[in-house]
Amino acid sequence: MKIGIPRAMNYYNYYPFWYGFFTYLGIEPVLSSPTTKKTVSMGSEIVVPETCLPVKIYMGHVLDLIDNKDIDIIFSPSHQSIEHKIYNCSKIRGLPDLVRNVVKRNFLLIEPTLDKSEKNQGLYQYLYESVAPLGITDKKLIKKASKAGWEMQNNFTAMMGEGMSFRKAMKNAINGRYVSETEEDNKKYPVKVAIISHGYNLYDDRISMGIFDKLEMLDVKTFVPENLTLKQMENGFPVLDTTLYWANEYEMTGAAGYYLVDKKIDGLITLTSFGCGPDSIMIERLTRFAKKYSKPLLNLTVDEHTGEAGFITRLEAFTDMLIRRKRENIVKTYSGQFGDTKEEKQLKNQAANF
Ligand code: SF4
Repeated sequence: MKIGIPRAMNYYNYYPFWYGFFTYLGIEPVLSSPTTKKTVSMGSEIVVPETCLPVKIYMGHVLDLIDNKDIDIIFSPSHQSIEHKIYNCSKIRGLPDLVRNVVKRNFLLIEPTLDKSEKNQGLYQYLYESVAPLGITDKKLIKKASKAGWEMQNNFTAMMGEGMSFRKAMKNAINGRYVSETEEDNKKYPVKVAIISHGYNLYDDRISMGIFDKLEMLDVKTFVPENLTLKQMENGFPVLDTTLYWANEYEMTGAAGYYLVDKKIDGLITLTSFGCGPDSIMIERLTRFAKKYSKPLLNLTVDEHTGEAGFITRLEAFTDMLIRRKRENIVKTYSGQFGDTKEEKQLKNQAANF
């Protein structure tokens, strides 16, 4: 039996779990192809224009599974709340409702609900709803499958936390491997930047326009929310003088607050999608606090029409500014501290030429 999983939205957070869970039960998860221009346009055609880009892309992936991969069972969960009274954005909560209403094809929609704010709607109920429509109702077996899923998910989380790239961590996790060594990185980077975004924006190369490769070419070392623990992200909320309400604000507000006061980080980049209500509130708050902490901030908003050339120009200008600023700070710190000896003059030159 095959089950189609759209390579979008929650895929970027939970695919290792689903992979482990379904394969344990003898169900083969089939992914849609990576996002292309066509995926974006297919999805955009069936929803209203105001819908955020990640949701449009999600719809394109559902169509890809049905039309191109011959899949007639689609897994589209509704994650209402993942902690008591901590809710997801309404579009994430209503994802299966949207699929049911806009995708005009014949298929079976598996739409379990996870709502930790409601009684009897916890993880095991969610997992039961994920496979009961496929004829699997043995609760003991479902629990064992859940354990297999968590093993893969925990490996993935640990590798991402250690700074492994998304692609490599995902590949290792679904091959049942935990590779403890982080990637060799002997390169010296003049500046370090934290990118604040949701996984479904960051790791979909079509949405993020390959931001990691572009920054690497500019010699910028990048950090992401997945490098932080939940506790570190919680510590970020008071920095921005706020508390947690939206579940997906952990990776936005929490990570932004944490990196804002992290001295090793020279600047922050936010990557958000046009039409995203929750993120636009966060950006406004972060912009105010970035000024307060004198931390440079670049806000990038993408939609289906965003061009790559303008995107690169903005990254280049931001990187140049960070390097200039860092050099000035170094010179300021050391000016007056150097004497006239040959070695001290050499040090002063080094600082000025950084
Ligand atoms: S948080 Fe924003 S980008 Fe994500 S689904 Fe909701 S509206 Fe879309």
